[in-house]
Amino acid sequence: MKYISTRGQAPALSFEEVLLTGLASDGGLYVPESLPTFSASELRDMAALDYPALALRIIEPFVAGSIPADDLKALIDDTYAEFRHNAVAPMVQIGANQWVLELFHGPTLAFKDFALQLLGRLLDYVLERRHQKVVIMGATSGDTGSAAIEGCKRCKNIDIFILHPHQRVSDVQRRQMTTVVGDNIHNLAVQGNFDDCQAMVKASFADKSFLPADRSLVAVNSINWARIMAQIVYYFYAGLALGAPARSVAFSVPTGNFGDIFAGYLARNMGLPVERLIIATNSNDVLHRVMTTSTYGRQPLEHTLSPSMDITVSSNFERLLFDLYDRDGAAIADLMQRFDSGDIRFSDSAMQRAAGLFSSHRVSDDETCAQIAATWQQCEYLLDPHSAIGVNAALNAGLPAAVPVVTLATAHPAKFPDAVAKAGVTQAPSLPLHLADLFERPERCEVLPNTLADVQGFMAGNLSA
Ligand SMILES: *Cc1c(COP(=O)(O)O)cnc(C)c1O
Repeated sequence: MKYISTRGQAPALSFEEVLLTGLASDGGLYVPESLPTFSASELRDMAALDYPALALRIIEPFVAGSIPADDLKALIDDTYAEFRHNAVAPMVQIGANQWVLELFHGPTLAFKDFALQLLGRLLDYVLERRHQKVVIMGATSGDTGSAAIEGCKRCKNIDIFILHPHQRVSDVQRRQMTTVVGDNIHNLAVQGNFDDCQAMVKASFADKSFLPADRSLVAVNSINWARIMAQIVYYFYAGLALGAPARSVAFSVPTGNFGDIFAGYLARNMGLPVERLIIATNSNDVLHRVMTTSTYGRQPLEHTLSPSMDITVSSNFERLLFDLYDRDGAAIADLMQRFDSGDIRFSDSAMQRAAGLFSSHRVSDDETCAQIAATWQQCEYLLDPHSAIGVNAALNAGLPAAVPVVTLATAHPAKFPDAVAKAGVTQAPSLPLHLADLFERPERCEVLPNTLADVQGFMAGNLSA
C-alpha cells in the first residue's frame, strides 16, 4: 500500500514511512492511494469475528508490504487485550434504534486508546527492525497525552515528552499522565497555557537541531495516518453487530479535528453500508459552519464542558476535501494557502457531495447538560459531555425511525465529573476498578518555565542512551 499527500507534491510513501512521518513535506496529510474494499459476502463472514480478529482483517491491507500478517496479529492482540471489556467496543441501547458504542474501555478511558495503544506498538516494532530510536513530543490539554503515554510506556525505542499547561488540566487527566511509570516517559508541566505548549511543539518540529542527528521527532496527533486507520475498525464492528451488510446504519460522532468521523467515511468507502455520518460539534463549530455555509473560517476559541473538542481548525478535514475535489492536490494546496490569510469558500459541487453523506449539528453547553440529565432520567445511563453531544445530535438528525443510529461514546463519564454534576445528576460517576487508586499513586512530573530553551534543554538532557 502506498500513501499520497493531499497537496500532491510530496513523494508517495510506504506504510512504515508514513508511520514515522507527521505532515507531508508539502504541508499536506497522507492518505492511502486506494482503499481496500469488502464485498457483501465478505462482510457477512466478518460479522462472526471478535474485535481483534476484525481489526486484523481491516488493518492488514493498509500495512501490506511493511508488516507481515503474523506480526501484525501479535501487535493487535496485545493492544486490545489491555481493554477492560471482553467486547472491546461494546454497544448499549439507550432508545428505540438509538445505540451508544462505548469506546472508553481502554487504559485511559477515552477513544484515543484505540489508536494510540496500537500506534505505540507499531512504532516500537518498526523501530526495533530499523535499529532506530525516536522522540515523541506532543502538547495536550487532556486525552491525547495520557493515551500516548500509556501507548508508549513499554516502547524501548521511544522517548516521549508530553507538555501540559501547569495547573490547567483536570486532576484525573493529569494523574493519568503523571502516574505512569517508565524511564522513557517525561511529563513536562509548562508554566504557561495550552497554546504556549503547542507553539513549543510546533517550533521543535520546525527546527530539530536541539536533538542529536540520529533522533527524529514523531507526531502522535491525528495527522498521523495510523491513528485514523485504527479507528476504521469500530465502525465495521458496530455496523456488523446491527445487521450490516443487510442493514444500513447511521453514526453520530462527537468530533473536533474530524479525525474520528473521517475514519467512518473511510469505512463507508470500504463497503460498510452507512446511511449518514452526523458531525456533532460543541460551540467551537467550524465544521458545522462548513456544512451549513460552505465557508471554512477561524473563530475565537471557546472553553466548553467538552474540552477535547475545543479547537478552531479541523486539520483532518483536508483529507475529506481531497476526495471532494476529485483528489486534485494542486486545488487543495491552493485552498489551504488561501486559508492562511482568511476564510475560504468551497465549491458547490464539493459541498453537495459532502451533503449526500454528512450532516452536522452544534450542541451548546446547556444542551449538553440537558442531554446528560435526560439520558440519565430515561435509562439511568450516564454520558460524558462529549458523548452527550453525540447523542443530542443523533436525536436531532431527523433520520427515519427505522434507521439505527450509533453514537460514538468517546470518553468515560468519570473523566468529566464536573460536567455530570453540572447536569444535576447527583450520582457521581466512579472510576473503573483499574483506576480506583489513581489518587493514591505517586506522580512524576517536571515543572518548567515557559520558554523553548528550558523545554528543549530538558529534552536533550533526558534522552535514553
Ligand atoms: C479527542 C476527542 C474527541 C475528538 O476527536 P477528533 O479526532 O477530533 O474527532 C472527542 N471526544 C473525546 C473524549 C476526545 O478525547
